[in-house]
Amino acid sequence: MNKGQKDIDSWFKEVSFSYWSPHEMLARVTEEVGELARLVNHEYGPKVKKSTEREQEFSDEIGDIIFALACFANTHNIDLDKALADSLEKSKNRDKDRF
Ligand SMILES: [Mg+2]
Repeated sequence: MNKGQKDIDSWFKEVSFSYWSPHEMLARVTEEVGELARLVNHEYGPKVKKSTEREQEFSDEIGDIIFALACFANTHNIDLDKALADSLEKSKNRDKDRF
């Protein structure tokens, strides 16, 4: 478990929060990815922001996605640092002759 994951887990215990069910966490990840997509569409696409919508940063939405993923990972004993390192290694090997 990486530091961010430990911080989330400690905070949940401190405030007596329980992790959501896997389906609820997946829905949350999907919801946050949708929020990032909406922001990208505002920044680079034709979608105009409503005048009532607050300014957002990509980092806000990416943070929300990582938070939701960390919750899922915490309930499945997955170390996000290792998962990311494994993905990078997979990409390096799988795609080494591709580009
Ligand atoms: Mg969000």
